[in-house]
Amino acid sequence: MSHAPNRPLAAPSSVVEMPTAFASHDELDPEALGAAPVRWPRPSRLQEAVEWKPRPAAEAAESLGLITVGDLLDHLPRESGEARTISELAPDEVATVIVEVRSITSRPVRRRGMKPLVEAVVTDDTGVMKATFFNQPWLKDQYKPGTRLMLAGKYQGRNRFRVNTHARTDAVAAAGEAASQYPATKGITSTQILAAVREHRDAVFDEVEPLPAALRVAERLPDRPGALAAAHFGDREGGRARLAFDELLVDQIVQLRLRAERRATQSAEPLRDEPTLSRVWRDTLLPFSLTGDQATAMDEVDADLASERPMQRLLMGEVGSGKTVVALHAMLRAVEHGMQAAMMAPTETLAEQHFATLQALMPGSLVPVALLTGSTPAGRRADLLGKLRSGELKLIVGTHALIEEAVVFDRLAVAVVDEQHRFGVRQRAALDAKAPEGLAPHVLHMTATPIPRTLYLANFGALDVTTLRELPKGRQPIETFVVSGERERARAYERIREELRAGHQAFVVCPLVSESEALQARAATAEFERLRTTEFADFRVVLLHGQMRPREKAEAMEAFAAGGADVLVATTVIEVGIDVPNATVMLVEDAERYGISQLHQLRGRVGRGSEPSLCLLFGPAESLRLQALGRHTDGFQLAQIDLELRGEGELTGTRQSGLARFDFARLPEDGPILERAHARAERLLREDPALEAPELVLLAERVEAHEREPVVA
Ligand code: ADP
Ligand code: MG
Repeated sequence: MSHAPNRPLAAPSSVVEMPTAFASHDELDPEALGAAPVRWPRPSRLQEAVEWKPRPAAEAAESLGLITVGDLLDHLPRESGEARTISELAPDEVATVIVEVRSITSRPVRRRGMKPLVEAVVTDDTGVMKATFFNQPWLKDQYKPGTRLMLAGKYQGRNRFRVNTHARTDAVAAAGEAASQYPATKGITSTQILAAVREHRDAVFDEVEPLPAALRVAERLPDRPGALAAAHFGDREGGRARLAFDELLVDQIVQLRLRAERRATQSAEPLRDEPTLSRVWRDTLLPFSLTGDQATAMDEVDADLASERPMQRLLMGEVGSGKTVVALHAMLRAVEHGMQAAMMAPTETLAEQHFATLQALMPGSLVPVALLTGSTPAGRRADLLGKLRSGELKLIVGTHALIEEAVVFDRLAVAVVDEQHRFGVRQRAALDAKAPEGLAPHVLHMTATPIPRTLYLANFGALDVTTLRELPKGRQPIETFVVSGERERARAYERIREELRAGHQAFVVCPLVSESEALQARAATAEFERLRTTEFADFRVVLLHGQMRPREKAEAMEAFAAGGADVLVATTVIEVGIDVPNATVMLVEDAERYGISQLHQLRGRVGRGSEPSLCLLFGPAESLRLQALGRHTDGFQLAQIDLELRGEGELTGTRQSGLARFDFARLPEDGPILERAHARAERLLREDPALEAPELVLLAERVEAHEREPVVA
């Protein structure tokens, strides 16, 4: 490799000339050149192994994945952030505290495969609480009483704190490193890791800069070596943010390319004819006018369907936002091109509901629709299969029974898939195979689970997304209150009795006492007995839980739906499809045990008729989650709040959502960085889909190295 700086452009090539000093014609002498602090990045140095001593430290370092110098530099310290005091903590808050261990014990966990739980009583100047550590039994011996700790995790209320990450603070304070902590483990401390990072500090200059200078300038990013050094020793947050940008950029490029690839390799029937049937339906048969969001969604669907590439769209909208209407539009587009359309639901109940909705949306049965599920009688099934094969039947609704081998379509063009998270790669392939030879169907996925933008950008890059936020006109408001304490509880029951006396109905949802259905059922039964002999003694009360026989369940539901019962005491069975417009009250016991989205779904069971409705959440007034439900009715806003309250890395939630798979990026907090990376990735691929420009070579290398399983098939 040549170390010579640029030569003057006009220099005669036959003369060996000396390099000149910057911005002058003074030649530099060889000695000065030799002494100059020139250092060329040598990425191979990052591959060298770190020598850890003593032996247990080496093993521990290996378990943390700290093998090479590069691994070590990528292992960033955590900020303590704004540490909180124990007395300030609110239930559900994700926070960091600095505490001292008073006592520490471990106890076995009943669930199989789980290591014993470690519980420490910890204090600061403001209070005492019990901190729980999962799956790290050795901490009992490591964190002796008197140890000062930094704990990050979630305050669960009632003086309990669930620890996500933890480190000693005394060692670090001695090293003068503020509250920065390297994630450590049994056998190696944060301080030992810090010492190693110090030793290899210069290796940051061996890091390759993957981003072209122009992009870095446009995004106002520091260079990568500088960012890495800062992430350890300087502006930690600024440094980490740059590294997170790279990581998210590469990830977005991978996802967007995957999408482009899938599109390029599959063809679909373009549906481009003028709307005829679908226009008549929209303008004269649909018994209401579309919301603005529905109209926009239909336009987007039309544009997708007109393409020779299969539609891959995710339609998000809460229950009742009118997704089925948009889906039917797409299906009718297929029919008016002489082709077929299918709608698939994850359960028979949902398939039946969709079937009923589609029929209601096409008064005078504009186009015949059929239902095919596992319980369709054999004779009926044979008849349906024949009509699908001949093309006589254009529209069908069903369960996964629709993609069984035996089902053959004449010309399937559009498939609607409800709640696609239950739809795997194999089902996807089976569905694709139902389209005519060489073609794939246009697919519209629907989901009632609001997915915050951060989540779908991170995970669903392979789908286009349309959101229905605007609810159809005429929806009644639902007022939500958090009810705490005996006096409020008594008032709440009185308020419910008022509604019942006015001829309305109420749901009572029982506490989520255990994962065992039997215990759940027993608790619901006890509450049913209590309510019908006390608070609601003057009313007709029925019970519904998962352990009842199907007949009994159906009877209870029918009685309530027909107005033969005033109060339905239930477990969360009612989450799925009960539609009783006359029910105006929803009471949830021990509401803090449910997640935000589940409570929001439950609440959607009221407010369906012509009267304003009420949702009473029995639980602690300080709960941030319950407060959020009291303040917001928009499911998307609630989903975002939920994500923020849960924070990163909590066992359920973000880990399964795929947000915790990054080394540097912290989601959802880095949502704005993700947005920038997404926009930049789109632009880079638009201008240079193969990333062939010379200045993109190093970025392209990183993209190639980053392979991962797509989350959505
Ligand atoms: P989703 O599938 O999102 O749960 P649906 O499409 O099933 O919602 O619609 C729910 C109910 O609202 C249906 O009874 C439907 O007829 C009605 N609906 C849908 N769109 C509108 C609208 N724009 N105006 C009035 N009612 C509507
Ligand atoms: Mg629906």
